[in-house]
Amino acid sequence: MSILKLENINKFYGKTHALKNISFEVNKGEVVVLIGPSGCGKSTTLRCINGLENIASGNIYIKDEVISKDFKNWQEIRKYVGMVFQSYELFDHLSVIENILLAPIKVQNRKKDEVLKEALELLKKVGLEHKLNAYPKELSGGQKQRIAIVRALCMNPEIMLFDEVTAALDPEIVREVLDVLLNLAKEEKTMLIVTHEMAFARAVADKIIFMDSGEIIEIASPEEFFTSPKSNRAKQFLNMFDFKKD
Ligand code: ADP
Repeated sequence: MSILKLENINKFYGKTHALKNISFEVNKGEVVVLIGPSGCGKSTTLRCINGLENIASGNIYIKDEVISKDFKNWQEIRKYVGMVFQSYELFDHLSVIENILLAPIKVQNRKKDEVLKEALELLKKVGLEHKLNAYPKELSGGQKQRIAIVRALCMNPEIMLFDEVTAALDPEIVREVLDVLLNLAKEEKTMLIVTHEMAFARAVADKIIFMDSGEIIEIASPEEFFTSPKSNRAKQFLNMFDFKKD
């Protein structure tokens, strides 16, 4: 079942043609990883899906319903699409649990008891149930990012978008966040992930989408992509990484 579909998306920033006829699909339970050199349009793709950027042409569908035509619908879209960014964007003046409960209660009008139960289960899964009443300033970067992931999951989105969620973390704590994503993949969460961690991409992805200069160059299984990429651009890109050692 198709959860997300992009059909011929074009996006411009002034004269920059940032996305050129981008088309792909993410099915239920699938993990799709977007990779490519810096500036190729990965982040813009996620931001268009989440309604943070408008598009020049094309259609974006969630479960076969076009979401990109009616911009009044964007509030609605956020119920279906969860996003976690490189910076954690937690509210500093709110405790961990207050950060997590805010949107489900205020935006989704859900009952506090029900959301609290779910939040506690999710916190346990990411190993942070003991940080319930801590404030963001008392947490490490990796812990903050795990809380940001729980906060997005607690909205029960159909699909989660992750935009380089480990890029701002110290190398020794990257693993703890990647492990959370690997566990979500095992639970068959539908995810679209942008990452520069190639070994992780290979381990977590059902499908790799390689972009360059605003275009999709290849869509392949991780095995195919990492062992025998078809395009020269993908070969050059992969040569920059020492991922085979991991
Ligand atoms: P990536 O995530 O792959 O590094 P981006 O999606 O951030 O790439 O950027 C794609 C292209 O769009 C780049 O040429 C970038 O400079 C340009 N771009 C991104 N955001 C903006 C913006 N807010 N204003 C102008 N140009 C932008």
